[in-house]
Amino acid sequence: MAVEREGGLGLGTLGRLGMAPQPMSHESIVKAPRTRAADKVVESVCPYCAVGCGQLVYVKDKTIIDIEGNPNSPINEGTLCPKGAATYQYVVNPHRVKTVRYRAPHSDHWEDRPLEWAMDRIAKLIQETREKTFLERSADGKLVNQTQGIATLGGATMDNEENYLIKKLFNGGLGVVSIENQARI
Ligand code: SF4
Repeated sequence: MAVEREGGLGLGTLGRLGMAPQPMSHESIVKAPRTRAADKVVESVCPYCAVGCGQLVYVKDKTIIDIEGNPNSPINEGTLCPKGAATYQYVVNPHRVKTVRYRAPHSDHWEDRPLEWAMDRIAKLIQETREKTFLERSADGKLVNQTQGIATLGGATMDNEENYLIKKLFNGGLGVVSIENQARI
């Protein structure tokens, strides 16, 4: 059944609850979601936790313009939690730090350093600490081959393959026993 709206926005149809359509401004009518401007939609998986919600990444001119939940995913059926819904800012954010930031012991400020410098320093400190703290046998003579002088804390954005390599390197290779990761619910 057709009804005429007061306010002059033309004819509408009665909704299934028998009520007239809501009044809408011209702005609301002509506005469209930015995802419609995408020239490509890529299926992906939220990087933040082990639930593994499906995502749709909207791309325009090789730039990500939005990331939303994938309705075809049996895990999340198009929804995302607040963390997953903020994934867009993970890649497109003017505040994102893109250089190595270093604060020397007792310093009150951060400095930019080259990545190679940081990798060399981390490798040197790991080697020194391991040599100083490595324990071949426990106090009661059991073979333990471990160091408790180093710990590793992984972020949720690491994938399965990276976590596998972390376990191999730190646990099997270096004898580190304190390995933790946020990738869980
Ligand atoms: S962080 Fe949220 S959206 Fe991402 S996989 Fe986990 S539950 Fe899903």
